[in-house]
Amino acid sequence: MIPKIKRTFTSLLPVDKNRTGECNGCGDCCKLPFRCVFLKDMPDGLSRCAIYNVRPPNCRKFPRSRAQWETVKENCGFHFPEIKVELKQ
Ligand code: SF4
Repeated sequence: MIPKIKRTFTSLLPVDKNRTGECNGCGDCCKLPFRCVFLKDMPDGLSRCAIYNVRPPNCRKFPRSRAQWETVKENCGFHFPEIKVELKQ
């Protein structure tokens, strides 16, 4: 429940500019930490949000950060490339 509360309070922060890809409708983020009452299963096997056009910012921006994406990365259509930092000596 703590991640959900944190996600709600940080939802007005900007989306990480390194995010690539797009939502594939897997619905995994709609089950964190429990299944959203607005999530509807479709005959094609995908899921759809019943309030998609008026969904709140924490849903609209998900995954806003790499940390959020880590919780759904197996099926999520978004990606966060590894960023390698080289230290100069
Ligand atoms: S986990 Fe990613 S691909 Fe799946 S519904 Fe959420 S944003 Fe879309």
